[in-house]
This record gives sequence, structure tokens and C-alpha cells, in this order.
Amino acid sequence: MTIVEARTPDPKKFIKGATGDWEIVIGMEVHAQVTSEAKLFSGASTQFGKDPNANVSLVDAAMPGMLPVINEECVRQAIRTGLGLKAQINLKSVFDRKNYFYPDLPQGYQISQFKQPIVGEGKILLEMPEEKVEVGVERLHLEQDAGKSLHDQHPTMSFVDLNRSGVALMEIVSKPDLRSADEAKAYLTKLRTILRYLGTCDGNMDQGSMRADVNVSVRRPGEGFGTRCEIKNVNSIRFVGQAIEYEARRQVAILEDGGSIDQETRLFDAVKGETRSMRSKEEAHDYRYFPDPDLLPLEFTQGYVDELAAHLPELPDDKKARFITDYGLTDYDADVLVAERESADFFENVAKGRDAKLAANWVINELFGRLNKEGLTLETSPVSAAQLGGIIDLIKSDTISGKIAKDLFEIVWTEGGDPAQIVEDRGMKQVTDLGAIEAIVDDIIAANPEKVEQAKTKPGLLGWFVGQVMKQSQGKANPQAVNDLLKQKIGLE
Ligand code: ADP
Ligand code: MG
Repeated sequence: MTIVEARTPDPKKFIKGATGDWEIVIGMEVHAQVTSEAKLFSGASTQFGKDPNANVSLVDAAMPGMLPVINEECVRQAIRTGLGLKAQINLKSVFDRKNYFYPDLPQGYQISQFKQPIVGEGKILLEMPEEKVEVGVERLHLEQDAGKSLHDQHPTMSFVDLNRSGVALMEIVSKPDLRSADEAKAYLTKLRTILRYLGTCDGNMDQGSMRADVNVSVRRPGEGFGTRCEIKNVNSIRFVGQAIEYEARRQVAILEDGGSIDQETRLFDAVKGETRSMRSKEEAHDYRYFPDPDLLPLEFTQGYVDELAAHLPELPDDKKARFITDYGLTDYDADVLVAERESADFFENVAKGRDAKLAANWVINELFGRLNKEGLTLETSPVSAAQLGGIIDLIKSDTISGKIAKDLFEIVWTEGGDPAQIVEDRGMKQVTDLGAIEAIVDDIIAANPEKVEQAKTKPGLLGWFVGQVMKQSQGKANPQAVNDLLKQKIGLE
């Protein structure tokens, strides 16, 4: 694996056009709603799913004379996010007014940060199947969300819901470092994982707490950047992939036809799987940005930042490295487990003081497999970490075989209870008493003299005998002991 810093064109990612290869270039602007009870400049609630206009203060409605007051919690969360992205934290930043008209923006401007954002350059590491890719983060700034216009509930009327008006967003802007739809999806997934670990954004794209603007351009490999289109507000990771695939091919078709790309803002139509033009691209000067006279520059000390840094949780990259070195897990298993903080914690609870590889195997293959199948999550899992640990202890102490362990898992899954007690009560213990196993082995051998003769020259038949003994012992005979006894008695050793 190599770390790719300045991205070298990779033919595997090229689009094959009629006139040759094209490289896709992607940069993302992600709007992540800050996890905070109150809005960025008002005390109104941010609770999701309330009736329209239930979460609106006079500030959010832009009543004359109302003044914004910065919510310190949002500032703290933005700094923590910056630290999680290994980014430069700016001790002084400035809020600006971005001026435009829209019915769901009663102020007539959005308070955002333009020239001096709270967070500067950072990075996100992607682990793609064949390489590690470091994606640059350009900046993170704080801004207000707008309200929402509802056009389709009544044939002749439009409504405005200001519940989101003033909600704090972090806009996280990547450098144009991504080169395929897969990388863009991996970037969003990783960013969401980091935000969730930090607890700074819940990452729920279906509730609009994370939205991506996807900038796409194409170029001949080795050439300078092409003109980009920005696909606005894509609200699922899968759609991001589809939008990029469609958009890149659309641009290639135009260029190969001798045309040129208009820099524009486009929408992704998830039903048709297409992007379509929304408006020509606006430029920064169109917005007449200027520092908001109602707000002082945002300033804090390095000591405050250091204090937040000292209390950051362990992040996915570090956790993964630790799982590999401390527990001897494979890269794949570690990846699966650290994808969510909850699964990593669950695994550690199961693995504590136990065979970690066996624990990882049971957590990933048995438990996660089953949860996925039933559409459940760890939160709603019928099997707890303590119960799964109990099953593993019984395997490790040779009390039950791996096969019986699966039956036991099934019982714990459907009925609950203490695994050791269940094994005791239902007589599921593995028979390691050689005398008892020998009696069964002798029975089977006596009943099948011809097969015994055949087995002497065809050792593959041993498996059949093992199966018979296991069946007769209802799966409780120790398989190793059965194997040893059979070999000895048939005379294979
Ligand atoms: P603006 O703020 O006007 O939208 P920026 O220069 O800040 O423009 O870039 C916005 C996003 O577009 C960033 O994520 C950046 O990486 C991406 N981007 C810039 N140029 C290109 C390009 N040629 N192709 C694809 N993405 C690009
Ligand atoms: Mg932009």
C-alpha cells in the first residue's frame, strides 16, 4: 500500500471515451448540522420533526431589532471537529453576511464565514481496497441554515417553515483530491464516521443533518483542471455515487462532441438518476459578503483549544491501529469494527480478557450477520456483550463445541438468558468423557463392517464416521476425541 499525496492519474479510474481516456476530479462541500440543543445565534430548539414553525425565535424570524448571540456550544463543536480532522484551528475568525433573497431566508442574508473561517486546512485518510488516499480539507466554517419552502401541499399556495432557520451548520470543504465515485463515497462515509465519533453531528442524511454539494469536472489525464459543475444537496451516499457517474459521463459526451462545459449549479434527480441544470454558477462577489456588524470577531485562546484536544475521544484511524496491534485483528475485521463507535465498544466489551480473534469472529459473523438479516442494530440487539462473551467462554473451556455454540446463540437470541445456565439446564455440554465416546464409536464400527474395510484404503470415509458419531451424540461429542478414536480403531494410524 502506498500513500498517494499528489495524486498521480490512475488508469483504472479513467472513463473510456470515444476519443480516449478522461479523469474525473471531485471536490465536496459537506453541510453537517452541529449537534447542539439550540441554534447558532438563538436559544430556539433544534429538535427534529416538530410542527412547522414550532422552533422559531424572534431572531430566527428576523424580527426588526433582534440581535444574534453566538452559541458557545456550537463553537466548541466546530473546534472539536477541526481537531478531529487534524486541521489548523484559527484563534480568530469572522462572521460575514452572505446576501441573497429567498422566501425561506427572512433576514435577506445568511450569517456565514468567508475570508476567515474558524478552521483551516486538515485531512481525511481513506482506505481504498488498493491504496490509502489522503484527501485534503480546505476549511471548515460555521454558518446558519435557512428555512424550508413547501410548495406541494396546496395547489395554489406556498408555505415557509422556519424550524431550520438559524440552525448551526459546519460547512466542510474538501480539496479537489477525489478521483472516482467510489472515493467520493468513501470520503463521505469516513467524514460521517469521524463526526459521529466526535458527537459533533449525528450524520443522519435522511433527516438532512448531513448534505453534500458535489463538484465534478473531467480532464485528459495529466492536464489542468476542467470546468466543474456543482451538484447541490445530495442527501445519500449512494446518490452521490450515482450523481458523479452520470455527471462525469455527461461532461465527457459534451467535450467529445466539441462542446464546452458551462460552470453551473445542478440538481440530482434520484428518480431518473440524472443531474439537471438549476442555475448558472454564482460567484462569491455576487453575494456582497461583508463582516456582520452585529457580531464581534470570534476569538478564543490556544489554552481553550488544547483543553478540547486533550478530551477528544479516540478516533477511528487510531482505534483501528490499536485493534490490529493489541488484539491481532486483521485489517478487514478492524475496519468493520471501528466503522461505528458503538460496534467498536461492543467488541471491546466482548473481547475483554478473552480470545480477541474468536470474539471478533463471533461479533462480526454471527451477531452482525444476524442483526443485518433482521434489520436490527446493536442498540436493539437481543444478545448483549455479556451474553456473547459467555458463549465464547463456554467454547474456550471446551464445555461446548463450535456447532453447539451456534445452537446456543440461537437460544440466547430468541429466549434470552445466561448461556452457562442454558447449557447446564438443557444438557448441552460437550462429552469429553472418552469412555462414553468410545462406546458410540464401537457401536458405529460394529454396525458398518464394510465401510470400515473401505475406509482403510479410502481415508476420506473417516468424515462419514465422524458424522455418524456426532449425530448419535447429538453434536455433543468432542470432535477431536472422535477423530482420534476412529483413526485408532479403524487402524489409520
Ligand atoms: P466555490 O466556493 O465558489 O464553490 P471553491 O473554490 O471554494 O468554490 O470550491 C468549492 C469546491 O469545489 C471544493 O470542494 C473544491 O475542491 C471543488 N473544486 C474546485 N475546483 C474543482 C474542479 N475543477 N473540479 C472538481 N471540483 C473542484
Ligand atoms: Mg460552493
